[in-house]
Amino acid sequence: MKDACGVFGVYAPGMPVAFLTFDGLYSLQHRGQESAGMAVSDGDTITVVKDMGLVSNVFDERTLKPLQGHLAIGHTRYSTTGSSTWRNAQPVYRSVGEAGFALGHNGNLTNTAQLATDAGMLPGVVASDSDLVAELIEARFPSDEDSRSDGRDLERALSEVLPMLEGAFSFVLMDTARLIGVRDPHGFRPLCLGRLDAGWVLASESPALDVIGAHLVRELDPGEMVIIDATGVRTVHPFPPERIEPRLCSFEFVYIARPDTILYGKEVHGARVRMGELLAEQSPVEADMVMGVPESGVPAAEGFAKASGIPYGQGLVKNRYIGRTFIAPNQELRAASVRRKLNPIRDNVRGKRVVVVDDSVVRGTNQKAITKMLRDAGAAEVHLRVSSPPYRWPCFYGVDTGTRAELLAANLTVPEIGSYLGVDSIAYLSEENLMKAIEAPRAGFCTACVSGEYPVAVPVSLTKSVLEREASLDPAPPLL
Ligand code: SF4
Repeated sequence: MKDACGVFGVYAPGMPVAFLTFDGLYSLQHRGQESAGMAVSDGDTITVVKDMGLVSNVFDERTLKPLQGHLAIGHTRYSTTGSSTWRNAQPVYRSVGEAGFALGHNGNLTNTAQLATDAGMLPGVVASDSDLVAELIEARFPSDEDSRSDGRDLERALSEVLPMLEGAFSFVLMDTARLIGVRDPHGFRPLCLGRLDAGWVLASESPALDVIGAHLVRELDPGEMVIIDATGVRTVHPFPPERIEPRLCSFEFVYIARPDTILYGKEVHGARVRMGELLAEQSPVEADMVMGVPESGVPAAEGFAKASGIPYGQGLVKNRYIGRTFIAPNQELRAASVRRKLNPIRDNVRGKRVVVVDDSVVRGTNQKAITKMLRDAGAAEVHLRVSSPPYRWPCFYGVDTGTRAELLAANLTVPEIGSYLGVDSIAYLSEENLMKAIEAPRAGFCTACVSGEYPVAVPVSLTKSVLEREASLDPAPPLL
């Protein structure tokens, strides 16, 4: 499973906004490792710096120092639409007359093709759905220079464009004087507002506030737009009320968000521990040790150990210096890349019946390689417990999971998955227990990838491209 993107914005006159944005992006690195970028305004001009690679590869003191200003936005990207090229790195910038604006997007629009057709764009004119949104906004700026004098052109253009968009989007935007944050009417992706002594911050996840000394004010509501400028913070509701229906991605709790992130007022780590506790009650097993797959499987493993009374132990070491690994073209090479990342602690697993707790199973590459590693290291039995339900449907809202043909649980029954992975037993957390673990009973969630119930209709053009990708795959069972 590949993560969504991370967005960040800061309005803080008198503070080193480029350095704050660097720190914010650094703490959102887990949401995307393909490219990083920021846009900084000094009140007159916007300067954009972006490149392929990790935040620390793109920025250093030399590149940050000249980025002086009072306002900035930043972005870390993992592509979900569009190819992985510099052209798709964000923030996206548009120069409009003497002004200009920049935007960063986390999510995935589901009506990109329709919007492009309606706008009379030829195929290939826009590089991505984020680029399309920038085009639509730019087209709504007045052409007459004088009519821009009140400085609210970006806000007005957004009020026209936002209701046209469907799918998942958490945006940060800026012109030379103001910072804007928007969440789609379902709130698929998170976005929160923070306070600095001398300013305001927007971020995908709350740890990006902690790292720069800001405190969390609140999570933006689904369908909310906030505008931050010299007068303070204003809220606007650009979507019709009937479109507001909260559907936060449940996999933010399972896997995507950091454990120290606050979502729906809860710290994610606690929810992951409860997932493990409920999994132990739901699918017990006799064993000598519980271990988590580093790192996102560890909190659920703690919970499993606590609820089952089976001692927790470390069975695998993760190489912390592995950055992005290349996408290996076949199963054998993918398994080799898992071995590069993880290695067993032989003395801890030898002769033991181990329960391996992982957060999710997508292709099964990791779990198959880990099972073999543990058996080679002398484990007597390997029992897999997964702290989320079987992942059977592709995501169209900002997480790249591949096609149904690539999803293990879309093609095999749970016992078949167990035999394919070579484990002695396997169990997944039920959807009901997943919701129970999150402990936000009145909140709305998206569970489309496990239930097949998509909150926003997926147009044929999108499913068609998925089907075409499926058809282009090797006709032999791709997972075996
Ligand atoms: S389909 Fe799954 S991964 Fe995508 S937004 Fe919904 S819950 Fe999240």
